[in-house]
Amino acid sequence: MAQRLAMSGITHHEVLQAMATVPRHVFVEPALEGQAYEDSSLPIGREQTISKPSVVAKMIQALMQKQTKMGRVLEIGTGCGYQAAVLSLLSDEVYSVERIRSLHENARANLRPFRISNLRLIFDDGNKGIPQAAPFDSIILAAAGLGIPDPLLEQLAIGGKLIAPVAKGDNQQQLLLVERLSSMRYQRTTMDEVFFVPLQTGTI
Ligand code: SAH
Repeated sequence: MAQRLAMSGITHHEVLQAMATVPRHVFVEPALEGQAYEDSSLPIGREQTISKPSVVAKMIQALMQKQTKMGRVLEIGTGCGYQAAVLSLLSDEVYSVERIRSLHENARANLRPFRISNLRLIFDDGNKGIPQAAPFDSIILAAAGLGIPDPLLEQLAIGGKLIAPVAKGDNQQQLLLVERLSSMRYQRTTMDEVFFVPLQTGTI
């Protein structure tokens, strides 16, 4: 998988290493294990998906740029916990929020054997962020909203970066990278077209 990622434009050494370290088949249903190392998203139940590896790597690479570590990270949309495991290898501390209780619990079970000490899984609506744990150096959304929720922009450290898929009409979505330059100034860069599940509100 790492070789294919390198060919698709992922050049960051630590990102490639983390992608090669986390066994993706552990995070999918047994019937789909054979497809775990293909570059595609796969169903994980409750109409949600495990993200496509090349997109996970691209988003993390965009957040890291030349850094080798990501500091304190917030992930919205734990899903099966795959990306959270990748992030934990590249960060000091990761907080990952999921709004569907059964997926949150499933992610906990998937991640337990890895005994990751710097990852916290939280069952809540990620639109609110986690004010008590802010500020975050990096924020990554695994679900697409119409825009970026204000609390997440507020919880970004100055100099920190956020990456999110954002809906832009006609069933299209684009990755948006936001860097917080000062308390009031944010710089936005649009990147590739992507396809993510929708960012919802509330918990179920
Ligand atoms: N990070 C996952 C991808 C999960 S898919 C991976 O490693 O592959 C996106 C997830 O976002 C879904 O599980 C969905 O339930 C969740 N989600 C959607 N809206 C959310 C919200 N407001 N707060 C928290 N999680 C949300």
